[in-house]
Amino acid sequence: MIKLNRRIAAIKPSATMAAEARATEMKAAGIDVISLAAGEPDFDTPEHIKDAARRALAEGFTHYTPVSGTMALKQAICAKLARDSGLAYEPAEILASAGAKQAEANVIAALFDEGDQVIIPTPAWVSFVAMVNLSGAEALLLPCPESDAFQLDPARLREVLTPRTRGILLNSPSNPTGAVYSAEQLAALARVLLEHDLWIMSDDVYEHMSYDGPVAHLFAIEPRLKPRGIIFNSLSKTYAMTGWRIGFAAGPREVITAASRLQSQNSGNPNSLTQVAAIEALTGSQAEVATMVAEFRARRELTVRRIRALPGFRLPHVPQGAFYCFPNISALIGARLDGRTVTDGNALADLILNEAQVALVGGNDFGAPDHVRISYATSIANLNRAFDRIEGLLKRLSA
Ligand code: GLU
Repeated sequence: MIKLNRRIAAIKPSATMAAEARATEMKAAGIDVISLAAGEPDFDTPEHIKDAARRALAEGFTHYTPVSGTMALKQAICAKLARDSGLAYEPAEILASAGAKQAEANVIAALFDEGDQVIIPTPAWVSFVAMVNLSGAEALLLPCPESDAFQLDPARLREVLTPRTRGILLNSPSNPTGAVYSAEQLAALARVLLEHDLWIMSDDVYEHMSYDGPVAHLFAIEPRLKPRGIIFNSLSKTYAMTGWRIGFAAGPREVITAASRLQSQNSGNPNSLTQVAAIEALTGSQAEVATMVAEFRARRELTVRRIRALPGFRLPHVPQGAFYCFPNISALIGARLDGRTVTDGNALADLILNEAQVALVGGNDFGAPDHVRISYATSIANLNRAFDRIEGLLKRLSA
């Protein structure tokens, strides 16, 4: 056994990436798998964004750029933050990275240390815990029960804050639950957060996938939090640009400078052509975003209806945002098929993949093993075929 770095040895592969990779492998082996696993829009990147990249390529924009992104991109990001969230940032407060994921990993690594605690309300996206642990800090998982619609209760937050608490990661709309904080709920959380000196990280990746009106921003509702707030965002979901790898962080200059220094050592600038495409995405026509969101809304209606008709699946709250449903499958725990027993969400996801050829992500690594995550970022036809298959499998389970 080779000896690995202690922290690297302790991390698992990303559960979302692993589920998608298994589906891709099975497809490559000729198996007709329907993937509702990775959170990846099935739409093509809008043509005007691709055109911008084509032009940049033709003009030879193929060299290094500043590590934290070009000035033009940072200005476009500042304009976007002002337009969509009413927040004023300067280019020196922006770090562009190869996806929000890299911006998050670099900021978290720059900010936290051994002995620090970072609160992660769960269910939460699978990579947050790994990123915090890699920094040496401790991830304190704070379960937000389904009965509270997976929302963090401000009183509960106040109870767990200690002098060791150095940060909190919020994500609204939420991956995996689709929960969205209202302006009132954010104001109530802000009152508690103001009492304590900690970094507040707001992952806004799904901000445009909100089906009951625009999402309020914590730092606009309580501007006194902005000096210790960091925003993470990505173009992957909003503009169907997952493969381009572009996202960003916005926050106080010292934090951004430290994270950029790290990025200068571990990777460098995000792809030059992608940066040009990102400027067009952020500042050009937003018409396609509205079209995609309307389609997601229709898919959500179908997905909720079909999940609620599945025996053993429970979905008490209609998710208000993102493109995931996170049903409770505890009624199926103990169910059996050909000698295999459903022990948790991961086991059910495995069974559904192997027996019904539908890829989902088990809830375990989101901090909710009684659940599975279903992405509806795929066509209505695919969704219907997938649910027909799952329904057929569930009929074969014995109690
Ligand atoms: N964030 C998406 C998901 O949760 C993409 C995969 C990943 O980076 O985790 O499926």
